[in-house]
Amino acid sequence: MGAPTTPATTGTPPRPIPGVPPASRALTRPRRRLVAAAAALVALAAVGAGSLLDLRTPAPKSADAPAGAFSAARAYADVQVIAARSHVAGSPANEQVRAHLEQQLRGLGLETEVQDTVAPEAGQLSGAAGGATLARVRNVVARLPGTDSTGRIFLVAHYDSVQTGPGGNDDAAGTSTILEVARALTTGPRPRNDIVFVLTDAEEACLCGAAAFAASHPLAADGGVVLNLEARGSTGPVIMFETSRNNAKLVDIFGRAAPHPVGTSFAVEIYRALPNDTDFTAFLDQKFVGLNSAYIDGGAIYHTPLDTPAAMDRGSLQQHGDNALGLAREFGRTDLTDLRSGHDATYFPVPGGLVRYPGSLTLPLALLAVALVAALGWLTRRSGLASTGRLAAGFALALVPIVAAPVAAQLLWLAITTIRPGYAELLDPYRPIWYRLAVLALATAILFTWYALTRRRIGPAALAVAGLAWLALLGVLLAVAVPGGAYLTTLPALAGALGGLVALRTRQTGPWPVVAVTAAAAVGVVILLPTVVLLFPALGMGMGGVAALVAVLLGLTALPVVDLLHPQAGGHRGLLALRARRLAVLPAGAAAVAAVVLAGVGLAVDRFDATHPAPTHLMYAMDAGTGQARWLSHESDPQPWTDGYVDGVTDVGDDFPGLGDGELRAGPAQAANLPAPKLEVVADATAGGERTLRLRLTPQRAARLATLHVDTSTATVLRAEVAGRSVPVEPRAGKWGFGLVFHAPPTEGIEVVLVLRPIGGQVALRAMDASDGLDALPGFRTRPPAVGVVGSHSSEMLAVARTYPL
Ligand SMILES: [Zn+2]
Repeated sequence: MGAPTTPATTGTPPRPIPGVPPASRALTRPRRRLVAAAAALVALAAVGAGSLLDLRTPAPKSADAPAGAFSAARAYADVQVIAARSHVAGSPANEQVRAHLEQQLRGLGLETEVQDTVAPEAGQLSGAAGGATLARVRNVVARLPGTDSTGRIFLVAHYDSVQTGPGGNDDAAGTSTILEVARALTTGPRPRNDIVFVLTDAEEACLCGAAAFAASHPLAADGGVVLNLEARGSTGPVIMFETSRNNAKLVDIFGRAAPHPVGTSFAVEIYRALPNDTDFTAFLDQKFVGLNSAYIDGGAIYHTPLDTPAAMDRGSLQQHGDNALGLAREFGRTDLTDLRSGHDATYFPVPGGLVRYPGSLTLPLALLAVALVAALGWLTRRSGLASTGRLAAGFALALVPIVAAPVAAQLLWLAITTIRPGYAELLDPYRPIWYRLAVLALATAILFTWYALTRRRIGPAALAVAGLAWLALLGVLLAVAVPGGAYLTTLPALAGALGGLVALRTRQTGPWPVVAVTAAAAVGVVILLPTVVLLFPALGMGMGGVAALVAVLLGLTALPVVDLLHPQAGGHRGLLALRARRLAVLPAGAAAVAAVVLAGVGLAVDRFDATHPAPTHLMYAMDAGTGQARWLSHESDPQPWTDGYVDGVTDVGDDFPGLGDGELRAGPAQAANLPAPKLEVVADATAGGERTLRLRLTPQRAARLATLHVDTSTATVLRAEVAGRSVPVEPRAGKWGFGLVFHAPPTEGIEVVLVLRPIGGQVALRAMDASDGLDALPGFRTRPPAVGVVGSHSSEMLAVARTYPL
């Protein structure tokens, strides 16, 4: 036979059969092996199915559900009102939504008011590229007073939508959930603690509503527990993906009180690394603790015109509501004075609940896993199943699939987006399932190919130990760098090592070795399979490699089970061995074929059409002073439709600083008859070399935002005030070295005070405003049915600017 003989053993009979792992030593007869393999696979499939079923959303409750329960059908009636059309902050449509919310909350007998103020943005956003950002906001705030309050619970969602879509999910889901939760809470006995319902404005613009509430609303003065509800897609389980720091007590309550607790400490780590923000960001300071939840699958419609009420998965809405109501009731009766613990918890979903343990155990467990895997390696060597050389070689070679699978997944997506460039502008394809399965098949093909190629030379025992060694080492790395994610590899490594040790001890005794390695692999399945499934929507196909990596790690935890399937095992000789070797490539080949077929099915099934349009990005910008206008696009590789408007690349920073910096695609456009915002001097005084300009910036049309920039080669900005609030004077790059962006400007305009040190004579200011919708513009042709709009904050924007020398 082709496999090299196992070196130095004690020589006791039976003669060791090279390549036969501890788990299957008693199973050298092919038929028994097959039975064992089938049994192990059925068991793992059942465990996997159980894990995935646990992620399913609950059935939506009908409108006649009991008054104390959350009913998705009742909440959906509000969704339809809230998301009847796009309702961006400051628009008349948003005013109607606000009136509806006020009426609903007042109708429940709650103390309801509107917080009407001007607020700066929360945190540092990418939207801040134009300069200091503020908005006029109107938050709807209602309170259910507690009987003996120990603190406040804030249920938070934003009621504004993006300009490009009605926000059927984002965030009519959160807003309608809060209305229905408020209704359910008012039907029962009053809670002990105050519950405050906060429906924020201008989240999409700058999180300004939440920032205003957190910073200046009297009810927020003492802080409390924040439960923020969001949607970044249309379907899938509601994931509790972000927490305040030192979250152990909160996570414990989440695990106990949420009826469908899907959340992992790994998501918290991923989210911290992503450039997304929600209202929750505004609450992340000393006063508040809390949990942030969203459903995220179906991301293709995110921020687009397709984010309609009809697109909403009512099961996801039901889960949002069940969890929010359960948590509101539990926090409503809990003593809120001490919810901060000294540490973050590690937690993850398993069928039937949420596993959680203190973060302080992360590193000890990771080190224990390394020790146990090392012990397994030592005993494997001592049992004669692998030499030191093979263990070392296996360890080196196990890195191959760990690297190759994510790289291959990224290359696969590169190939798919080359064939279908429209995917570049989508968070996720409309029907991503085929591509997700293709990535999993690809990872499987790589793992099986690697196994078939290395098994003969290295031996299954050494490979199994090597796989666990990588998991254990990754666990230590994660424990140090991203502790919330360490459980992903530490626990499967621990289970694998224990399973291996049991298999080694019991290797002459019937089914126990197989039972042991199967049980260990089941731990890997329970922990890693939901992770793979949730990572796809979380990161999108553009980062499918991460899911492929986790899939390979899952495969490595199950190597001894994989080996049972391996036809080469079983000690065949001669021709049989040759045949077995050929058979060994079968699973790998089948997986590779499946990857290609699934990708092909994806391309065939997920075509762009009227209901799944290819997203395009277009804006229009005009200088009202010169009459020069152009079409602009963020698309790096413009779609054919966009190509009809743009040709070259341009930097708009000098002409439209309000659009932020960066290169855009551009093409000439006809001038429209649109006025630039008016900039009036209310007062102008110079004293001690400082010139104080009191200005009024007034859009002359219905504008979503207005911007004002100062050419800092004409004056240095010393101080600035907007609507009575001082704003930071942080220098911007380029000609317009100072800028401010004001969302939802009131019709009477915005008062701006600039204290300047002039350089030379006049100071140059550039005023811009932006509205939405290109339909009425000269030269604009309506999109054909299969061409859609990119879900972004600048799609369909119409900007008019002019320079004012003062
Ligand atoms: Zn949004």
